[in-house]
Amino acid sequence: MTRRVTLPTSIVKPRGEEARRELLAEETRKVIEEYLGLPEMHFLEACVDCGACAPSCPFYKAVDKRYSPVGMANEMRKLYKKTSTITGKLLGRLVGARLPETEEEIEEIFDLAYHCSNCGACYYTCPHGIDSGTIIAMLRSVLFRHGLAPSIINLLARLELRVIESPWRSLQYEWDRVIEELKRDHNVAKEGEGRYLILLDIYNVFVNKENIDAYLEVLDAANIKYSFPDRPLGVRPPLPLTVGHYETARRVANFIYNYTISKGYGNLLILDGGYPYNDLKFAYTYYRASKPRELDIIHVAQLIYESYLYEGLPAFTQWGKATYIPSCNIDTRGGIGAASKLVEITARPYEKHLMWPYAGVGWMSLLCPYVREKLSIYLGVDLVLEEESVEEKLISDMRKVARHLAEEAYKTSTGYHVFGCIDDIIVMRAARVENVNPVHLAQWLKQHLLK
Ligand code: SF4
Ligand code: SF4
Repeated sequence: MTRRVTLPTSIVKPRGEEARRELLAEETRKVIEEYLGLPEMHFLEACVDCGACAPSCPFYKAVDKRYSPVGMANEMRKLYKKTSTITGKLLGRLVGARLPETEEEIEEIFDLAYHCSNCGACYYTCPHGIDSGTIIAMLRSVLFRHGLAPSIINLLARLELRVIESPWRSLQYEWDRVIEELKRDHNVAKEGEGRYLILLDIYNVFVNKENIDAYLEVLDAANIKYSFPDRPLGVRPPLPLTVGHYETARRVANFIYNYTISKGYGNLLILDGGYPYNDLKFAYTYYRASKPRELDIIHVAQLIYESYLYEGLPAFTQWGKATYIPSCNIDTRGGIGAASKLVEITARPYEKHLMWPYAGVGWMSLLCPYVREKLSIYLGVDLVLEEESVEEKLISDMRKVARHLAEEAYKTSTGYHVFGCIDDIIVMRAARVENVNPVHLAQWLKQHLLK
């Protein structure tokens, strides 16, 4: 039985265009004041508008040329210049400084800000080292403060805090039931006895369980000692970061760090291929969470690869031709090469998808019908899309991204396509893509590394 939780699905917007414009300026100043550091300053100031980043962006390529990284980031630059630079205040539009004047313009900015999954592909292609995804995330933070966020993602982000602060009884009951199953099937160490605490959350336990199971089988075979938290550590943390709600993201991240340390662990092990690894390990600097020095965030692919390299465990068998499709938050932003290496040593022949290595759907898979249905059941809320909502448009555009990725991936392999991130597979399925043969990395490793 699940209990219905009533929370606001969107934030109240101020009335009147003039009032909203003034408020937007104020919100921009706050975000700039609180979160502008040297890297962000470089990202805002050093762009020369060459457009070299555009072809790397999945949304630019597959959806519409409006969604170029520089074009989307420039919306934040306009706000920044108008509110926070002397030339912008004095010369206005002459130097590209501008605040939106109408409701329609704000809606347009909102649309642009959410056609970025923060995949990092543009960062890797910009000759000036500009991370447009970070700037676009700042724009989302301004919009959030201004009362604008996709309602479903906003609701899930708020629920994440609720889950962390006090999981309700029915949720805890369902959680305990699934955790018992996992404990029965795997060598889970008693609390405090494992070396790694696994980050388990609602998404991974209830939506992605088959891949969690597969990873645990490999960890068991490699004699790696791990434990589980006694409660869900969020919906898919730090989810509030995706809507730019830095303050809530900070509370969520701090809770997870403190919880891990309080249970006696120095290693938090991430089994998720999406943003949780990257955001908890690196991006916390953007929202000023306080990760203790003694806490390390480790991805499961690193651990399995090291075990294979140094212990010779587990042994592998060959499974056939495969292409590895890098995950934006493990391989690109996270900088983990271990996932692709693991596929490389277990596939003959092996290819790495280099033509378009970043699927870039990330947190957007939370909007797919399959995921919403599962989360609705366990969280006790209706995650129903409104017609003509921003979410509905995003799903439709994500499907275009998935089909485009599939066409590119198809060129590189006639065997299996191994994905490090479940989001990519979920979106592929939602888009009914037929010409790829997707396999999650966890399943691939289970098939190959275990005799
Ligand atoms: S972000 Fe980099 S690649 Fe893109 S337009 Fe600016 S300078 Fe050029
Ligand atoms: S981070 Fe990815 S999705 Fe966002 S603008 Fe850059 S390439 Fe496009």
